[in-house]
Amino acid sequence: MSPLPSANLSYLSVIETTPDMVVIMDQNGLILAVNPAVERILGHPNEALIGQPLTRIMPERFRAQHTAGLRRYLDTGNRHLDWTSIQLPALDREGCEIPVDISFGEFEEDGRRYFTGIMRDARARKKSDDILEFLARVGPTLADSSLDYEETLRALTHLAVPHLADWCAVDILTEEGTIERLAVAHSDPALIQLVADLDRRYPPRSDSPIGVPAVLRTGKSEFVEEIPPDLLESVAEDEEHLDLLLSLGLRSYAIVPLLAHGKTYGTLTLVQAESTRKFQESDLPLIEDLGRRAGLAIHNANLYRGAIEANRTLEEQKIELEQQSEEAQALAEELEAQTEELLAASRDMELKTAEAETANRAKSEFLATMSHELRTPLNAIGGYVQLLQLGIRGPLTTEQAADLDRIKSSELHLLGLINAVLNYAKLDAGTVEYRIEKLSVEAAIAEADTMLAPQLESVGLSYARAACSPDLTISADPEKLRQILLNLLGNAIKFTPAGGTVKVACVPDSNGVRIDVEDSGVGIEKEMFAQIFEPFVQIDRALSKPAEGAGLGLAISRNLARGMGGEITVESEAGKGTTFSVWLPFEPVTRPPGAGESQVQNS
Ligand code: ADP
Repeated sequence: MSPLPSANLSYLSVIETTPDMVVIMDQNGLILAVNPAVERILGHPNEALIGQPLTRIMPERFRAQHTAGLRRYLDTGNRHLDWTSIQLPALDREGCEIPVDISFGEFEEDGRRYFTGIMRDARARKKSDDILEFLARVGPTLADSSLDYEETLRALTHLAVPHLADWCAVDILTEEGTIERLAVAHSDPALIQLVADLDRRYPPRSDSPIGVPAVLRTGKSEFVEEIPPDLLESVAEDEEHLDLLLSLGLRSYAIVPLLAHGKTYGTLTLVQAESTRKFQESDLPLIEDLGRRAGLAIHNANLYRGAIEANRTLEEQKIELEQQSEEAQALAEELEAQTEELLAASRDMELKTAEAETANRAKSEFLATMSHELRTPLNAIGGYVQLLQLGIRGPLTTEQAADLDRIKSSELHLLGLINAVLNYAKLDAGTVEYRIEKLSVEAAIAEADTMLAPQLESVGLSYARAACSPDLTISADPEKLRQILLNLLGNAIKFTPAGGTVKVACVPDSNGVRIDVEDSGVGIEKEMFAQIFEPFVQIDRALSKPAEGAGLGLAISRNLARGMGGEITVESEAGKGTTFSVWLPFEPVTRPPGAGESQVQNS
């Protein structure tokens, strides 16, 4: 300490060792003495201050006010300030402002007035005040974070500036792994614009060993108390980039991860620049805590968003399910209506079937009765013709005998027709009995063609029968099979002009034998194939000799074949010839009752 007027040695020792700065001034405000703490804290060497006005270590803006206040006090004795507690910044050697708490005192000696100024470095207090104030403001904001965490973090950056730092930025790691700057705060909007341009022109490299990308990658904080010039050089992409970075006057920075549940959602960057403050190791826990709170805000907001999204999806699914349920309901109703319609149709059908069956039965009964009734007078006609032919009623003239022959032949033909109708009626009524036995196919064919051989010859047709294996047997009623073969062969003869051919062959397969009756006659149009099996159908009555049939032969034959578990089919080409095939099984077929028009009785 510089020599003081009547300095007491013990006081001197206290002044020398106190951590606070002590300045002694004369009544003109000129510094007479300073203790070592002044140089330690503000960096001014003693010699540079002695003889200088106290305003020399005050920021420009307070100087005039201080000088006027001192003058007023000396003139009037009025103090406008509480001398024991004045908070003002002091200027250090580099012109930076250091907050100090000042208390002034005065004393007189030898009629002269002196002033003492004791200045305490208030940086630590100020910083903790700032931090407390910041926390008081930011706490509710973060706790209140809802769906819109972006807004919360933007608010956080604004609250951090200038209390905590000169710059504050929040960067977010997107789902795609890119870095998105969410917010930047600084007191000067022009500088914010400058940094935005800087970021656009020189976007951060994801593999950068320092800065936001590194903290995002590692989840570890980064802290530099005093930014050395070569640090900026190492990150600058080019000269211009470096110039711009330098122009920002960055001094100290801390980057902490926004952490929650082990996941890094982004970073919080705090930078000191023009305020000349610096971050210290001891600041890091607070900033990291802030990063965690911000991370939690993001995490919670994401959860909240997820829940809302899930809720929305559920709501949509519910609506979809409701729609589907309504559709299903409508479909069910439609189906029910259709089922009812079908049931009604089925009932209607049953009714009609029953009606048809009744009508059919009535028809069959009528046919059976009528044929029976017709046969009685016809037999009487036959009997009387025979009586006359035998000459029992006297001798006959040649003409009379010829007329009787004609009557007899017509009577026989009529009897044939009536028998056919009766047969058909019996079949239709299902009253035919089948005596199924093993039959030799060869024998059955031979028997039929023996019966028709004379007729074949008389109409000038050639006849061929392919050889059939003698042990080839089928299960059939011999009577019914004969009837079928006679009908098919009879038709072949009827519908084949003289000079044509009729052939019979048998073709076995895995289940039975097919007997083909082939002719080279008039043939049948394809569209008539189904109809010719219907009763009373004759394709061209003019072609067939009306006296020879009633159109029942094929209907009866098919009924009989089916009654024995077989079938009759036709293949033909008009003008070229026809092949009717009757197929019958090796083994007897048991048909369920009511399945066919005829019943089968196995022998
Ligand atoms: P019908 O012989 O008593 O007339 P069918 O039921 O036996 O009665 O035959 C029905 C019709 O089928 C015949 O009128 C005829 O028009 C046709 N038809 C049957 N067989 C032959 C055949 N082999 N060639 C050509 N037409 C045939």
